Amino acid sequence: MLAVVADPIYRAPKGTRDILWPDSARRRALIDRFAEVVGTAGYTEVVPPMFEHLEVFQRLGDATEVVRKEMYDFEDKGGRRVALRPEQTASVVRAFAQHRPTPPWKTWYAGPNFRYERAQKGRFRQFDQVGVEALGPEDAHLDAEVIALAWRFYQALGLRQVGLQLNSLGGPGDRARYIETLRDYLTAHREELTEESLATLEANPLRVLDSKRDGDAEVIAAAPNILDHLSDEASAHFDRVREALDTLDITYTVVPSLVRGLDYYVRTTFEFTSEALDAAQDAIGGGGRYDGLAAEMGAPATPGVGFALGVDRTLLACDAEGVFGGPTGVIDVFVVDTTGGHEALRLTDLLRRSGLRVDRAWDDRSMKAQMKVADRSGATLAVIVGTEELDAGEVALRDLRGDTGQETIAVGNLLDVLRERLR
Ligand code: AMP
Repeated sequence: MLAVVADPIYRAPKGTRDILWPDSARRRALIDRFAEVVGTAGYTEVVPPMFEHLEVFQRLGDATEVVRKEMYDFEDKGGRRVALRPEQTASVVRAFAQHRPTPPWKTWYAGPNFRYERAQKGRFRQFDQVGVEALGPEDAHLDAEVIALAWRFYQALGLRQVGLQLNSLGGPGDRARYIETLRDYLTAHREELTEESLATLEANPLRVLDSKRDGDAEVIAAAPNILDHLSDEASAHFDRVREALDTLDITYTVVPSLVRGLDYYVRTTFEFTSEALDAAQDAIGGGGRYDGLAAEMGAPATPGVGFALGVDRTLLACDAEGVFGGPTGVIDVFVVDTTGGHEALRLTDLLRRSGLRVDRAWDDRSMKAQMKVADRSGATLAVIVGTEELDAGEVALRDLRGDTGQETIAVGNLLDVLRERLR
């Protein structure tokens, strides 16, 4: 008996999937578009490894959920403790600390991350992100540049219903003081919080503000506002970010409860949401400043700002808005050969070398069977080689899209005619 296909061993593990064409082509096109957009601002690609020493990610902070609960970490055969990356900022900053490129170092990346999450629509255990990191200047205009790049990228995909939420967590001192104020406030209102938020309060009071549970809404709405706890310097930095975004005509909403999941953020934080998606997976990207991270990784103190955008979520947003559709065809020309296949071998090679996308039939099947495959191939034109035509140095050309019949052309003219017809 044949192996049972439904055997779970032979299915992609939970939270992962195979991305087949046309989705794979769309994913590739999205990454290409991203590279184009960030390339206009001089960002260059970095390709960090997919795993690092565990300590690199532990620098993200003990209270960071992706580190505490969701990391794929293990001991390798050499006894090293390593982890698959849950995100790429830590790896990029580690690379900065290791190679010390001259700041400003403006770099972009694309690739998978791994988090042991509860798999659901738009939430995977292996998922792709594209992102940028800019290390060096603390200039608020760099925050605005980074935000603007994400914004222009969404526009380039055709997305129109993207919202930008903006906040400042202040400098490290402001942030630490605010956390204590918030802890006191939340502890005083512990009776009114949900069980889940009480557990979060222990680990990281800031994250309680992220709760979307109805039971927490009232307490959160009346919580102390971080923007009232910023130093003059952090306030001025935030004002300059906002002015820059106004100048660039980028609309945003200031959301004082936006703290984001990663502990390393200071000053500017931001998140992009798609108004075309359900609230459960409407976060399509986010980022912020992480001025202390490079020093944590052993580099001279160097401020940094960046973002990561979820590729899958962004494509879901494109689906919801009906933009950035998939590719249309795989090939342009299909070669049908009823003379044994030698001509198909030669012609496909000739046409491919001149840049056309060409496929052919296999196994020396009948004309009728080959034409069926040609029709299904999505090609625009079929080149048909028969014994009579071959003897005369000719081939037949058939339009597979319309019903315009078939014409005979000299092999010597084939390339020119195909080019003309495919224009
Ligand atoms: P984060 O690195 O958590 O700030 O996430 C940045 C973006 O990556 C989010 O806004 C999502 O679009 C996307 N993302 C994060 N986690 C996942 C996941 N498990 N599956 C799919 N996309 C994700």
